[in-house]
Amino acid sequence: MTLSRRSLLAGAAVLAASARARAAAEVEVVVIGAGAAGLAAAAAIRRGGHGVVVLEARTRLGGRAFTETALGAGRSFDAGAQYVHWAERNPWREIVRASGVRTSGDATGPWPVLIKDGVRASEDERRQRRAGFGRVSGLLDHPAGPDRSVAQAVAGEDEAVRGAATGLTRLTLGEEPDRVSSADYDQLWSGDDIWVDGYGALVARHYAELPLRLGTPVTGIDWRGPGVAVETPGGTLRAACAIVTVPVGVLAAGSVRFTPDLPASTAAAVAGLGMGAYTKIGLALDPAKAKDLRDAVILTSGTPGFTAYLEMRPFDRPLAVLHCGGDGARALCEAGEAAAVAAAGDHLASVFGAGIRGAVSGGRLAAWWTDPFSRGSYSIARPGRLAAREALRIPLVERVFFAGEAAAGGGAMTVGGATLDGERAARAVLARLGS
Ligand SMILES: Cc1cc2nc3c(=O)[nH]c(=O)nc-3n(C[C@H](O)[C@H](O)[C@H](O)COP(=O)(O)OP(=O)(O)OC[C@H]3O[C@@H](n4cnc5c(N)ncnc54)[C@H](O)[C@@H]3O)c2cc1C
Repeated sequence: MTLSRRSLLAGAAVLAASARARAAAEVEVVVIGAGAAGLAAAAAIRRGGHGVVVLEARTRLGGRAFTETALGAGRSFDAGAQYVHWAERNPWREIVRASGVRTSGDATGPWPVLIKDGVRASEDERRQRRAGFGRVSGLLDHPAGPDRSVAQAVAGEDEAVRGAATGLTRLTLGEEPDRVSSADYDQLWSGDDIWVDGYGALVARHYAELPLRLGTPVTGIDWRGPGVAVETPGGTLRAACAIVTVPVGVLAAGSVRFTPDLPASTAAAVAGLGMGAYTKIGLALDPAKAKDLRDAVILTSGTPGFTAYLEMRPFDRPLAVLHCGGDGARALCEAGEAAAVAAAGDHLASVFGAGIRGAVSGGRLAAWWTDPFSRGSYSIARPGRLAAREALRIPLVERVFFAGEAAAGGGAMTVGGATLDGERAARAVLARLGS
């Protein structure tokens, strides 16, 4: 392809504007959010030889990749991401390997016991459930026609299939099936999963050397030009460009004020992407009383309308971690930690009997849904809104670039996708800066 004179002139104008913005800036690039996307973007900008600073609202880095240690020594667990998904093409596979952290290839476990409404399911019920999942997978594989919700895609099926679809969307997406685009679900990448012992801690360690300002929530972005003015409680920072990686739920909540307002196309993209409510509750167990519970992974639906599974003794630690999603999980986050931990204890007891309660010494709720800096677990494209992820990638006058798992296409909802998307945004910014 050859360059036309028009594109050369346009390119020169962009570089001149870029030079003006850089002259007025205190830092060339400001990255908002120190999750996987923001950290990867900042690292790439730095590798490209440009000045960058990351502003992070929380007092820690990693975002939704977070290894929780509040239950004490020897009882850490990943409250957010724990698997390197689609490992064949995920940049974290190599980082994990080089780091030497423990992993387990057996990501989903043997799922040896199915408890339904407190009762151990029969072999027949288990067979039906497996068949239901098989049928759902078939229906969601390249669904024909207009983009419908997962619930609509299985509407004509029997109860077992509809139940499987509900379990699937709650436990893989954290959302109810009527709020999930079946076309978006279909375009998500899949492949090998590697379970990492301390994925969040690894993300934080990997990027510890970057210039970060923790405890610095961004409240506003003025993008009238020539560069951007980023407002925080501690003052305003001027930069040539901003890369915004806050979760789409945070954008939807209006926690960051844009001046001027977001253009209609970006606002529509944000509105087309909801947030799921995948939730984990860690229960600390007495090692002596819990020693026989090892290696059991149990799927339960203890309460009608609620789907969860229990991960027992992850990496051999005296812990049980209840995973749940959808509206039942939202209710637990809204009820608060004490109520959620009690509910998780009830689930444990519904599987192992009331005696197990004496083995529980405490618990921790990872309440992503009510957390003001995440507002949910990960982005969900609403039915009919397949194009929203791509639309979110369109920058505001080459000055404000959005990145993160929500904009990661087939890599959405993952650390790997956020990382790749942060690097994508960094490439666009480097081009704008004339690198
Ligand atoms: C329970 C759970 C389980 C998951 N399991 C997996 C898994 O097994 N494998 C996997 O790959 N992925 C998993 N994910 C998803 C994965 O964690 C995310 O997709 C990924 O970490 C998102 O990275 P990000 O950089 O896009 O966003 P984030 O990690 O959310 O980073 C955004 C950052 O912006 C900050 N921020 C927010 N508002 C402001 C503000 N106003 N000013 C400044 N900073 C702000 C936040 O504090 C955060 O640090 C899981 C997520 C959850 C919640």
